Amino acid sequence: SYEQILKTRKTHLTPNVVAHFKKPLVIHEGHMQWLYDHEGRRYLDMFGGIVTVSVGHCHPKVNQALSEQISKLWHTTNIYMHPKIHEVVCFVNSGSEANDLAMLMARIHTGNQDILSFRNAYHGMSPYTMGLTAHSTWRFSLAGVNNGLVHVMNPDPYQGIWGGAACRDSPVQTTRSCQCQEGCQAGDAYYNELEETFKYSLPRGKVAAMFAESIQGVGGTVQFPKGYLKRAAALIRANGGLFVADEVQTGFGRTGEHFWGFEGHDYVPDIVTMAKGIGNGFPLAAVVTTPEIAASLGQALHFNTYGGNPMASAVGIAVLDVIEEEQLQRNSLEVGTYFLKCLEELQQRFEIVGDVRGKGLMIGVELVEDREKRTPLATPHVLEIWETCKDLGVLFGRGGLHGNVLRIKPPMCIDRSDVKFAVDVLDRAITASLA
Ligand code: PMP
Repeated sequence: SYEQILKTRKTHLTPNVVAHFKKPLVIHEGHMQWLYDHEGRRYLDMFGGIVTVSVGHCHPKVNQALSEQISKLWHTTNIYMHPKIHEVVCFVNSGSEANDLAMLMARIHTGNQDILSFRNAYHGMSPYTMGLTAHSTWRFSLAGVNNGLVHVMNPDPYQGIWGGAACRDSPVQTTRSCQCQEGCQAGDAYYNELEETFKYSLPRGKVAAMFAESIQGVGGTVQFPKGYLKRAAALIRANGGLFVADEVQTGFGRTGEHFWGFEGHDYVPDIVTMAKGIGNGFPLAAVVTTPEIAASLGQALHFNTYGGNPMASAVGIAVLDVIEEEQLQRNSLEVGTYFLKCLEELQQRFEIVGDVRGKGLMIGVELVEDREKRTPLATPHVLEIWETCKDLGVLFGRGGLHGNVLRIKPPMCIDRSDVKFAVDVLDRAITASLA
């Protein structure tokens, strides 16, 4: 029964695994964008298992590829080849493992130690990557974890210290229009701060890498000022380092305009890490880089028992096929643009909707107490809205340093009627919370 499942979870799972919602959900089934609980109630899934179910729950084509593979070959490990591996990449099983390996690659290739990441970044929870991740929620004071890591100022155009107001072309209230290439004073100020960090905190000309999400995911859908990452990448390279794009959330067409998030920033990274969406829920992740950088790992240095196993590979290929055949990148752009428009209409009506931002189907809605000051909405109020949405049949994610950003990253197969439903539910939940 429902109660028994909750009790077992409480007794047998470590307490760090926290279920969402006061009355947690027990999910029994999922089909495309819909999830079904123990009583058969249906929920529109706007979070996709944390941006992971990219093409839909139990997508028939992916299911078929997996079941065909199940009866052929499960596992050999990578001492043998199998026909499903095509590309020259390093396969692993999770985003953390991918970023771990990218850190190792960058350090070995450059011979340098120091790696930069942004405050408010999330890159994983393995011992190496938890040092890159920069949220107080996930900081650990453990020997070794933070060695050689520098967190630089986050160029957040909404909550950052040069947020919104500094940008010539952007009205104060929005970050979405803060995408000007030239003359973005906020972008310039953040870039100058990065140069300062190089002056004071890093060995001249000797850094290993800088990591960046193309849009910060866990951090609350934070978009950087246009041009910033391109300049940052040039600065890192001038100092001997590599630039790593963490595409764990932003890859595979989710941002709509481009297949990879970094393309929206007009630069080419030295290493790209990917996970989540490529497996649609199956453990599959990868690191892609140039042959020169890959070669510096040597043959014996890295091994991963399950990386790129036949089942994960079969799923990955099927997911890529579905994204192409069903034009899900285009759908992300079209439906996502419509979504943003509907949410902006909501923003006009509710003072507490401070900011609506994102690209394609990677959207954030920042809830605030005060639109002028941008003070985060108090947690109990955010939780009330979030839970009411769930009770009305829509599951949103939550993120940002203060947990006040609703995260919308559904399977990319949703359509306009799903958007209308989700926005209507959010409207009702906000209205009820203010009554
Ligand atoms: N990078 C990013 C951008 C992520 O969002 C996450 C997971 N939320 C990770 C890395 C780590 O992925 P995993 O949980 O699969 O280790």
